[in-house]
Parts: sequence; C-alpha cells; structure tokens
Amino acid sequence: MTITERNSAFGWHLEQSYIKELPELFYRITDAQQVQNPELLLFNDTLAKEIGLDPDQLDASITAIFAGNAFPKGALPFSQAYAGHQFGNFTMLGDGRAVMIGEQITPAGKRVDLQLKGSGITEFSRGGDGRAALGPMLREYLISEALHALGIPANRALAIVTTGSPVYRQTIQPGAVLTRVADSHLRVGTFQYAAQFGSDDDVRSLADYAIRRHDPDLAEEPDRYHRFLKRVMDRQAKLMADWLHIGFIHGVMNTDNMTISGESIDFGPCAFLDHYDPATVFSSIDREGRYAYGNQPYIASWNLARLAETLIPLIHDDQDEAIAILQEDMKAFAELYQSYWLDGMRRKLGLKESKDGDSTLFTELLQWMEENKADFTNTFRSLSDGSVPDQADGRLNDWITRWQERIKSEGRSVVEAQTMMRTVNPAVIPRNHLVEEALDQAVQKDDLTLFHELLAAVRQPYEGTGIPPRFTEPPSKRFTDGYQTFCGT
Ligand code: AMP
Ligand code: MG
Repeated sequence: MTITERNSAFGWHLEQSYIKELPELFYRITDAQQVQNPELLLFNDTLAKEIGLDPDQLDASITAIFAGNAFPKGALPFSQAYAGHQFGNFTMLGDGRAVMIGEQITPAGKRVDLQLKGSGITEFSRGGDGRAALGPMLREYLISEALHALGIPANRALAIVTTGSPVYRQTIQPGAVLTRVADSHLRVGTFQYAAQFGSDDDVRSLADYAIRRHDPDLAEEPDRYHRFLKRVMDRQAKLMADWLHIGFIHGVMNTDNMTISGESIDFGPCAFLDHYDPATVFSSIDREGRYAYGNQPYIASWNLARLAETLIPLIHDDQDEAIAILQEDMKAFAELYQSYWLDGMRRKLGLKESKDGDSTLFTELLQWMEENKADFTNTFRSLSDGSVPDQADGRLNDWITRWQERIKSEGRSVVEAQTMMRTVNPAVIPRNHLVEEALDQAVQKDDLTLFHELLAAVRQPYEGTGIPPRFTEPPSKRFTDGYQTFCGT
C-alpha cells in the first residue's frame, strides 16, 4: 500500500471509528488491488466541496486513490462483514468488491463513509472477481445524483475511475471503480450478521455504534435499543413513501441493501416508472415480483422485522416480553408508512390540510392512471402546470374538478397550489430508455455527451425550463414492454 502525502492540500480528514469501536468480527483489513491504467472519468465537484475535498487539487496522485492504487494518510482500508436475506434466503455476504477508506469529517463536522466499489477481491468475494463494470457504475452515479436532487436520501457518487482492464459479464465491459459517500454503510444485514455469527455483546456493540452514528441523542437513554429500532422504522417508512411518490423501484431490496441511516443504497437493477402500474418489476431476476414498485413498503416492513429479531436480547431479559414489545412496534409500521404516504400525496396535489376522503381522492387518480397507462411523472407535472394530462377523458376531468374544489376548500387558489406542486413533482427523472441509451453510448462508443446532458437535467428536476423535449417524453411502447435491467453488475 502506498500512502500519498498530499493530504492537506486535497482536504482529507479521515477517521476510523468503525474499526476502532467495533469488534474485529465486523471487518477484515483489506488492501485494494492495483489497477493497470487508472483514468478519472467523472468527479463530483459539488459533493467534493461539501465534504471538504478540493477539486482544484485533483492530480494523478489523487486519481490513484480513487482507483485503489494508493491511499491517503489516515486511511486503513477494510471490508465490512454482513449477511442478508436475498429474495428471502439467508446468506453470508460482506463487501465482496468494496473497500472502505475511512470516514471523512466534513467542514460541517459530519462523519461520512468513503467507499471504493469495484476495487478487487476481498475475503468476502465468494468466487466473484471483485470488480465492477463501467455501465452499472455510471447507472449508480446517475441514479444517486437524481435521487439526491429529488430530495430523497441516497448515498452519493464522488468519482468514477476506469481501470484499463476489462470485466467479463454478459458482455465484456471496461472495468471501473466507483467512490461513494454515505452517512454509513450499516445495513439491516450487518445486524443479522452480528446476531447469527456473533454474541449478544456483539449485537450490543453494533447497536451502540449505530446509535452513536445515527441517533446520538439516544446514546444515554435506558430504552435506547427499542427507540433506535423505532427511528430506523421511521426513516424507512419515510424513504418508502419518498420512493413511491417519485416512481422509484429499487429492484433488489434484500436486507443487505437496506440501510440503518435511511439512505437509498446499492442501485443495481433500479428504475423509474414510466406509466403507472404498481406491479411493475424491472429486475430480470425478480421473477415473482417480490420487489415490485407497489410491494416495496411491505418488503421494507418484512426487512425491518428481520432487524427487530436481532435486537430481542437487547430489549428485555425475558424473551417473550421482548417479542411482545417488538411485535407492537412492527404493527405500527403500516400506519406510519401510510401517514407519510398521505402527507406526500397531499404535497404532490397542492393540499396542506388533512381531510376525510383524501385517501379515496388520491386512489381514484392512481386508478385512472393505471387503467389508462398514463405516465406517472408527466401526469403529476401536468396537474402542476395547469396543462391537460395526456389521455385526459371525462372521468379525469371530473376528478380534476373535485380536486380543485378540495384545494379551494382550504381557502387557496389553484394557481397558488400549483406553484407549490411544481417544487415536488419533477419535470425530469432519469427515464429508463434514456439511461440505457446514455450508458450504451458511454460504454460502447466512449461518448459521454448524452450521459452529461442527462446528468445535468436530473440535477435540476423541478426546474421545468430549458429541458430537451426528449428528456420529458415517455418512451415508445416497444421500450416499456420488455424493459429489464440485469443484475450482472
Ligand atoms: P449487490 O447485489 O451489489 O448488493 O451485491 C450482493 C453481494 O454480492 C455483496 O456481498 C457483494 O459484495 C457481492 N458481489 C457482487 N458483485 C461481486 C463481484 N463482482 N465480485 C465479488 N463479490 C461481488
Ligand atoms: Mg448490496
């Protein structure tokens, strides 16, 4: 491992609380593997500045770090251990192709994980090559930037370096290393790992560490583990509502891909809805629709029940008592989610007050959209613009009249409501057919023009002006019918 000394100029300020505060069970010190010919393809200047790194100081010695060929002072690369339920089956996993550099302390005093993804094999690789292909890393970069700009918690992408070596998937692709930034990489699966392969003390160490990082105000509370679980549930209920309000489908909501921080993470076969259909599945490996758009809140609840199980020994000395307490918590999730969902729908439709019949009003619109295969994003944006939604008919017009009466009943004008609606209903999302085209051009033709145009557009999703028209048009039917993203990431 080479340590570059150019720390102070670039702004590294790394700490290592994870390896200092957790037992060795939770990680393996892992050197990233050298790559042949690293070239910096993308760098997120805005994010860099936010976390205290200076983009003007980028040079080959810094690029080497984002390739895993060198490490900054203060780094002690390691891979995290975790387990998880993948499509319902419990498995030991761990970072099979990622290393953590450490935690950067930002100028605002926040602690964020810096992780390289695609940096070579680790003790957790289980026969995989430890590498990542360029296309999927570009997808992760674009989707995480889009979610962030939409106001949805997500890990962020800082850099993509191409490695100069091919990786072999369904096709041969250029290899790439993505650097990502997250509030932490603690997962439901990290707790499952501790419960399955460690002792009650290990679970307690992990829970206390997670509380220090994400819910420090609970650190001294006697009932902190119980309240911690409720916080995680709250963050996830809100995240699920956020996803559904924006038409996002994660695609692989295994427990190892669900964070304790409430951030969206691990974007493999993820996609956005075009026309509204709650049964939409995009992942080629999700044959039963387990992770379909409309199923995500149920899966979140299932995943959180797996988290709750790991906390049983921390909740009460009497196991039955502990289970009774946790079951009560789990029952609350559906209601919690529903209230976030209703709040968000009110915002999408320019309403401020909660009234009887809201739920029915919202469901009627969604039913109309589903039956008419109306575009999810554009329908809401049309209602926000005061333009006529595509496929509008008598039934929709009747609904619009009742909705506008509902706005006026709050003593506000429709125009006023629409101004608010345009701040929550995006004009631009990273539409699947455009993402595919952009990734294709980047990977096959070495041309990032469309990728950069799309990235710029999704970074200002609510703006609504100066957008190339093709970025807001729904895809042709030929595209939507068979669309899948593949997990060969
Ligand atoms: P993901 O689908 O990215 O959430 O990954 C699921 C698990 O597979 C994690 O433990 C990854 O580290 C591991 N994994 C995915 N791709 C590779 C690869 N190319 N080499 C080694 N491990 C991998
Ligand atoms: Mg994962």
